[in-house]
Amino acid sequence: MISRREFIGTLAVAMPALRIAQANEWGSPVFDLHHHLRQNAAANLAHLDGAGITKANLLTRGPVQEQVKAIAALAPGRFTWFSTFDITKPDAETQLTQAVKDGAQGFGELKFHVAADGPELRRMYALAADLRVPVLVHFQEVDHFENEGTWSTGYAKTFESMLKAYPKTTFIGHADAFWANVSADYHNEAAYPSGPIARGGITDKLLADYPNLFGDCSANSGNNMLSRDPSFTPDFLKRHQDKLLMGSDCGCADGHGAGISQAGNPAAARLAGKCVARETLTVLKKSASPEIFHKIVWANAHTLLKIPT
Ligand SMILES: [Zn+2]
Ligand SMILES: [Zn+2]
Repeated sequence: MISRREFIGTLAVAMPALRIAQANEWGSPVFDLHHHLRQNAAANLAHLDGAGITKANLLTRGPVQEQVKAIAALAPGRFTWFSTFDITKPDAETQLTQAVKDGAQGFGELKFHVAADGPELRRMYALAADLRVPVLVHFQEVDHFENEGTWSTGYAKTFESMLKAYPKTTFIGHADAFWANVSADYHNEAAYPSGPIARGGITDKLLADYPNLFGDCSANSGNNMLSRDPSFTPDFLKRHQDKLLMGSDCGCADGHGAGISQAGNPAAARLAGKCVARETLTVLKKSASPEIFHKIVWANAHTLLKIPT
């Protein structure tokens, strides 16, 4: 028989680990796959704590080992990280290989003015397979502001051929073109199409047909896709419950919408003054069973990144 005093003692010892993984205000712990590294270590943590996020994946660019270390020291066990270097430069492969040796768990986000099936990204797809890490790609065909230029272009026409050509690469799709193409009637006419989704869109098919493709629900693009047609969303989440990942791509300061949540993107005004993480968690929770919600906001990221929950 365990005494009451001993029992309480056992609980106290177990508490710190428990606090990380326990259900929070969302009814499940939350992993944010798409958190852009902020300069000040504490600012990263402020967004997680404000939005009720348990752990986040830092998307970084360039040599950031010291910053990542400082954040890990501030909040042990709450951050993983992905790395990017300029993939149009010849040393990108060396730099990324070193980043993975130093602990980066993926490439991303890859957001460059190149073709989705061009030589620069093909090199990254191949290297990601060799290093056994996922690659997070930003697909966008419509400018958010004048002369922005497009990113990883040709998604609708050519990306399936990449999924076939690189079957050992784990792809995570993200951004405007990826999510707008959930609807079969999309032809690059707007960054964020609204209204009912025409069933049978390219992204829906690719997620169903290719085990090496996952979807990152972050940003206005992901939130818009989840919000635009409530008759579509629950079945979509059910169909791809093992392939979808919660991400915020939120730039707000406090996890409650302070500051700017979607910088440099007037087309995303629907999220102005709001925390994208909170908005996306809300629509996911409303549209999925508790079991599916838990997979999308927590379990899937751990499986994909091969990290313990
Ligand atoms: Zn992006
Ligand atoms: Zn936020």
